[in-house]
Amino acid sequence: MGIRAAKGAAFPTTVPVVVIGAGACGLCAALAAKEAGAEVIVLERDDRPSGSTALSTGLIPAALTNLQKSLGIDDSPEQFAADIIAKAKGQLDKAMAMAVARASGPTIDWLAERHGVAFRLVEGFLYPGHTQFRMHGTPNRTGVELEAALLAAAERSGIDIVTNALVTDLFAHEDGRIAGVSIQRPDGAEEPLGCEALVLACNGFGGNRAMVREYIPEIADADYQGHVGNTGEAVRWGLALGATVADMGSYQGHGAVAHPHGNPIVWALLTEGGIQVNARGERFSNEVRGYSEQAVDVVSQPGRIAWNIYDGQREELALDFTDYREVKALGGVRQAASIEALAEQIGVPPDALARTVAEAEALRAAGGSDRFGRNFAGKAPLRAPFLAVKVTGALFHTQGGLVIDAEARVLRPDGRPLPNLLAGGGAARGLSGPSRWGYLSGNGLLTATVLGRIAGMNAARMVASQ
Ligand SMILES: Cc1cc2nc3c(=O)[nH]c(=O)nc-3n(C[C@H](O)[C@H](O)[C@H](O)COP(=O)(O)OP(=O)(O)OC[C@H]3O[C@@H](n4cnc5c(N)ncnc54)[C@H](O)[C@@H]3O)c2cc1C
Repeated sequence: MGIRAAKGAAFPTTVPVVVIGAGACGLCAALAAKEAGAEVIVLERDDRPSGSTALSTGLIPAALTNLQKSLGIDDSPEQFAADIIAKAKGQLDKAMAMAVARASGPTIDWLAERHGVAFRLVEGFLYPGHTQFRMHGTPNRTGVELEAALLAAAERSGIDIVTNALVTDLFAHEDGRIAGVSIQRPDGAEEPLGCEALVLACNGFGGNRAMVREYIPEIADADYQGHVGNTGEAVRWGLALGATVADMGSYQGHGAVAHPHGNPIVWALLTEGGIQVNARGERFSNEVRGYSEQAVDVVSQPGRIAWNIYDGQREELALDFTDYREVKALGGVRQAASIEALAEQIGVPPDALARTVAEAEALRAAGGSDRFGRNFAGKAPLRAPFLAVKVTGALFHTQGGLVIDAEARVLRPDGRPLPNLLAGGGAARGLSGPSRWGYLSGNGLLTATVLGRIAGMNAARMVASQ
């Protein structure tokens, strides 16, 4: 994996816009480039495109969409950007946050109205840090559905997606201009392909243990739930080309991945009043700060696991999610008429769990915050039947990456863009600050779809102006 000199390289075929990766970012980039009149090809290492996009819950936050308007929801890009910035404690590129928030509504409307992606709005609870209902997802709220909808749109648009095409090297001129890529086929054969603009949509480095250990050691021993083929080429190529990277310690973790099933359990079970306890039956954190930062707290508990404790009323919210229904169907959700009986079932000391729940109930009644800073105000008490699901913490995807501008152009340390290299989604620096705590729900697919679209439009513009 590396950069080769373009001088002397021969490209039997050239496609003006080449996109690496067929997840949400790459497919949005290809749709936008094609629509802008450029010939485009997508190169995907897998036999069947899936990416982290297909592994995800598929929820994309966006402000001022036609769907929100039709439901009377009063949102704005400014309010959305303020939420992104607040979650990242202001330690991000604020202008990028504003640019992405502004482009989010038009991107969702474009995918829905022009490319037939059937979005519904998640209502009934707010994701941590969001001040408005703005999560858009496909009917069953799965990334599989989202990826399938994007692939269908690409097919309708006549976009070629070449699978089994691992891009190993980029060919670059001395000024950083990309001349083409080298594709490795499963039989080891190498195929050069020329391009006039290149979009890196090959996500981050979650699938590269050595890079995770180097940049984010705190999560290196946790499960990785993202796509294993995302092994950090964008960062490695970018650095070799003299590009700059930032926020390399940033990531989306998740503190409630059903164990051993691997499905994320909707966080609303906790934000709406549930609690998380360890194997000793004790709470250990403020569960409602966000699910990303909770991952490390959970893997620090005995056995690296925790139990989500909630009730039948809260479960109603989770039953809308395929991931939850699957875990329930597999027997991963325990239920009992009393807290003590639930504790017996899950192997947690009954007196300790009863004490923990009683403390939470007392706090709920009295108001005020607990020693972790959690306030249960406005949340109804837990009532029978009581439920529990065993969870662990995991790394979902990395949020550090190539620094880009609002046109998705990859930048050098002095702020100058590389001539024809663009990036989006997990390949680029996210909007989540430098660490685990800055990830606002949906930042992943937000930057994949919005920046993918912008990258595709600008790649087409670059090609047209050459
Ligand atoms: C369990 C889970 C749940 C999630 N839920 C959500 C959610 O609800 N909302 C949200 O916003 N985010 C969510 N995320 C994060 C989200 O999935 C990612 O942020 C998003 O999918 C990134 O899109 P992408 O297009 O950048 O990358 P991907 O979808 O991962 O696509 C990258 C593609 O590039 C290919 N590739 C990589 N390297 C090469 C190479 N060298 N040559 C050729 N191809 C290559 C890969 O095979 C892959 O297909 C979740 C993640 C996980 C793991």
